[in-house]
Amino acid sequence: MKISAIAKRLGASGLDVIDLGVGEPDFDTPKHIVETGCNSIKGGETHYAPTAGIPELRQAIAEKLNAENLLEITADDVVVTPGAKMAVFAALQALIQEGDESVLIGPSWVSYEPCVTFAGGHVVWGRVDENFLPRDLAETITSKTKVILVNSPSNPTGAVFDKNVLTEIRDLACDHDLMIVSDEIYEKIIYGHEHTSIGSMSGMEDRTVTINGFSKAYAMTGWRLGYLTGPKENLKWITRLLSHSVSQATTFVQRAGVTALRGPQDDLKSMVKEFKARRDLFVSGLRSLGIPCCMPEGAFYVFPDVSEFGGGDIFAERLLRDSLIAATPGSAFGPRGNEYVRLSYATSQTRLSEALDRIDKLLHQ
Ligand code: PMP
Repeated sequence: MKISAIAKRLGASGLDVIDLGVGEPDFDTPKHIVETGCNSIKGGETHYAPTAGIPELRQAIAEKLNAENLLEITADDVVVTPGAKMAVFAALQALIQEGDESVLIGPSWVSYEPCVTFAGGHVVWGRVDENFLPRDLAETITSKTKVILVNSPSNPTGAVFDKNVLTEIRDLACDHDLMIVSDEIYEKIIYGHEHTSIGSMSGMEDRTVTINGFSKAYAMTGWRLGYLTGPKENLKWITRLLSHSVSQATTFVQRAGVTALRGPQDDLKSMVKEFKARRDLFVSGLRSLGIPCCMPEGAFYVFPDVSEFGGGDIFAERLLRDSLIAATPGSAFGPRGNEYVRLSYATSQTRLSEALDRIDKLLHQ
């Protein structure tokens, strides 16, 4: 967000900045969802709603989680939140006590560590292999470990954890009596893979908090709508936390959420198709410029290794200063990200091609 703000400022001063720092789809919220939101306001749904969410949305979410994620839950097991970020925050507050450790696997989304430390915990950074999959995860577990955070598809790496990887994490969690917080917000933005919810694996029903939201799949970042499900005891605390802080997710936004889940999914499909085309273009472009780059299998970020070009911080600074390209240095995603930059391809193919031209000039002229 800081990088995007600088990019916007430079852009406002007349410079042609290509913003690859963004963490949100560049598509508009599908019209039928917008219409439901507008009609809901006009129809007077402008009052408080139950803390855990309106019944229709909790029901729609429960049905989605049953059918797509194979989680055996009911609407009573769903808590709606103002954004998935609040779900992450609340879940970690509920699970972590002072001094507990929480494992983050490799470069991880910027808000996890602050959420853990805010709850009084510490982060232990797990190693990853060249494909950003967990390596020697057992080494991170101590007597203080309470939670492992799983984020597949991952922001920033785009890695997708398949059933084998998730089974290893499951076994660790069961052997050491750990909780898993599974942030599945990029679940739908996945290329040629089946998403698996770790909470659906045997032995995980009582030790997983599954988090998801509407920001990415339905291009609804500004609406602030997310949700979670998990063990009843945890949900009780999470609901109490929401009740005494934000109260609830906005009532008419929740109504729009019902339409997002129950309505046509064509916009989502065409958005993912376009993201895939951009990913292919951008990854092959970066590789042909000599920048080593793992093929992201989900989300809308490329996370190239720029250690040969001074490391993430220096390369991001050069990109902005010399090429007017905004990118996020990998160090924003923890110590495991120092050698990388995150480039978002939530921008048109024309702009991505232009970015590749500028990077070519920066490196080779
Ligand atoms: N988790 C991850 C991995 C994310 O990338 C984001 C958004 N950047 C969120 C959660 C938060 O999403 P929301 O807009 O629903 O709060």
